Amino acid sequence: MLTAAEATNAIQAAMQACDTESVSLDDAIGRILRQSVHAERDQPPFDRVMMDGIAIRFEDFDSGTRAFPIQSTQHAGDPAQTLAAGKAIEIMTGASLPDGANCIVPVERISVTDDVAEIEADYESAARQFIHARGSDHSEGTELLRPGLRISPMDIAIIASAGLPEIEVSQSPTIRVISTGNELVAAGDNIEPHQIRMSNGPAVIAMLNQHSYTDCRHDHIVDDRDLLKEHIQYHLESANVVILSGGVSMGKADFVPQVLADLGVEVVFHKISQRPGKPMWFGIGPNKQAVFALPGNPVSTLVCCRQYVIPALAKASATTPKNPEFATLTQDVTFRPQLTCFLPTKLVSNAAGTVLAMPVHTNTSGDFASLTGTDGYLELELEETHFKTGTTVPLHRW
Ligand code: AMP
Ligand code: MG
Repeated sequence: MLTAAEATNAIQAAMQACDTESVSLDDAIGRILRQSVHAERDQPPFDRVMMDGIAIRFEDFDSGTRAFPIQSTQHAGDPAQTLAAGKAIEIMTGASLPDGANCIVPVERISVTDDVAEIEADYESAARQFIHARGSDHSEGTELLRPGLRISPMDIAIIASAGLPEIEVSQSPTIRVISTGNELVAAGDNIEPHQIRMSNGPAVIAMLNQHSYTDCRHDHIVDDRDLLKEHIQYHLESANVVILSGGVSMGKADFVPQVLADLGVEVVFHKISQRPGKPMWFGIGPNKQAVFALPGNPVSTLVCCRQYVIPALAKASATTPKNPEFATLTQDVTFRPQLTCFLPTKLVSNAAGTVLAMPVHTNTSGDFASLTGTDGYLELELEETHFKTGTTVPLHRW
């Protein structure tokens, strides 16, 4: 049986990189950047005026002039005008500094009568004040974004500022989520006392969506070898990634591993020394599809999806790995079996900036209602059984 770390390594090694595609800026949020973005021009591209007011020559102010006839007005977006000695140009924030001007006096510090701007008597000024110098943020050609980042709203601003209407990103993997089980009934359908609501499929798709993997569809298959074979075959033909829930344990209706083998999906591993989620199965299909078969218990499904599937999709999408996170236990935890424990937790941070973990004990790995309000789960390594208050342990946010 693999350890959790070995399982992660085996999955990461097996994942194939997605191709790239070009998307418009409007569709780029949340996608993984696959190109560098360089500055189109210096930033700012011209000496940019930072205040509404007047543009003057500092030398005029310095030699005692306080009344400046207004020669003209220049708005943001107007070409730079040329300032005459002893005069002022009425100027707006965002305008290009007029030729000959080297000082901006804010509108709050002047009064205007008969087109003459009078600066307050006690006003102190300096050369180049309120001028955002050309190229002072970055110069033309600077690499602003690197491949591998998940595009944020801030990155959208950078891509737009670089003049790119389209951008190269990783193709979204086509993902099929399959709930297996005779007992499962979808929300909205009539349910008998002996049946179970089908919650894993919608939850897994929601988690994938939350991580920006949106090309997902769900199917439900009863525990019947032939139907499983037929449906999984169909999904393998169209998907890059297939995620099954249920049917991977030792029960008499747990046909999933055998059916996958019959379909030519090569097993990479079956079972991980972990709780929850010990029976997890992973394999690679005939067209290099990644096939995850997650145990059906809802807590197991969600933890395994977050712990293994999400990082696998990140790898396939060429995402730059994130730094590991940690949290400090606020209570003692004892965990006896020689298994890695993934323990759901709520988080708070204290005034010292430490992230504190308040573990939430689920009744069983079917007790998914306890997960509400949790921020993620802690990873408690398999060699240890006692974790004291104050111990810092790896944290995985949902
Ligand atoms: P299995 O892994 O198929 O043995 O399922 C383990 C437990 O999880 C059983 O009690 C199932 O009823 C439950 N289960 C399996 N799949 C789902 C699902 N999609 N939604 C909710 N519960 C499920
Ligand atoms: Mg089942």
